[in-house]
Amino acid sequence: MLMFSHKLKQAIKKVLTVTGLHSIPWKYIPNGVYVFNYHRIGERNSCQFDREVFSCSTRAFEEQCLFIKNNFQVISLEELETIINNNKQHENRYAVFTFDDGYIDNFTEAFPVLKKHGISASFYVATDFVGSELIPWWDEIAYILRLSCGSSYQLPSKATVYNLELNNLEAVISRIIYDAKRLKSVTVLEVLDDIRAKFPEEARSISNVNQQLFMDWEQLCEMTSAGMNIGSHTLSHQMLSQLSLELQERELKVSKEIIEKNIPALVSSVVYPVGRKHCYTSDTCRLAALLGYKFGFNNEPGRITSKSNSHDLNRYCIGSDDIVELKLSILFNL
Ligand SMILES: [Zn+2]
Repeated sequence: MLMFSHKLKQAIKKVLTVTGLHSIPWKYIPNGVYVFNYHRIGERNSCQFDREVFSCSTRAFEEQCLFIKNNFQVISLEELETIINNNKQHENRYAVFTFDDGYIDNFTEAFPVLKKHGISASFYVATDFVGSELIPWWDEIAYILRLSCGSSYQLPSKATVYNLELNNLEAVISRIIYDAKRLKSVTVLEVLDDIRAKFPEEARSISNVNQQLFMDWEQLCEMTSAGMNIGSHTLSHQMLSQLSLELQERELKVSKEIIEKNIPALVSSVVYPVGRKHCYTSDTCRLAALLGYKFGFNNEPGRITSKSNSHDLNRYCIGSDDIVELKLSILFNL
């Protein structure tokens, strides 16, 4: 998901540097609410799962917090509600911090930094993952394919042959996961089954991995007590556009109930899994509103203005340690 915007940002950064235009006219960026979206925080290169899910290192995250604090008025989700209800989006440059998926590094790496700098962030959890030993499909695919270096793979119903070679292994793994999300007639879980069947030995070895990837309820309660907000990222993190309306309703409704049963706070917002335009529909947004969510966030870049739909709010996805790339995301809507 992040791969192509990352490449585009790299290309733009190069042009700006070569032409001497790297001093970006930052002060001219318009007022509005800029929602920043993080996933995992930490060292991607030592991870045996999907490295594309890492937003940045812990050190870079702290730098970005300071940069955002210096250039925006950082607000909590409650303050966002007041700003939207009173139509004050244009009055300042506001920033909101959000984290998707509920990986444990959100608690161990991001939470201490946020506390240190007095920032209230929102964390979106898929309730099936909370406190479980589950390994999500994208992490399992990356794990199996990394062990299958030297082989080749073909996605079901697609002619492309992906060669898993040492010199381009990470790029090919990212490409396969990216393409798997965009297959028309095959779901991502069917792709996972296909990969398990083609690389059975590598697939079996995942049972030896003894690592809890996601936060548990105790950690989420501790974050809530420290002023963080917890929101829904559905039950199972399936792409909602691939589900019937009944199943979409269940994912949105039951996840909210489960979170509210386990943490001492109400759930006011949801992040649609994967979050690109093809991953949810206008019915999804309508359902979220009907089920009592005040906000629904996507993963499309853009600032929030008075014209934004509260159940289809844009966010800037962070995928690099580099603050120049963060600026470029905002300036070029990447
Ligand atoms: Zn997610």
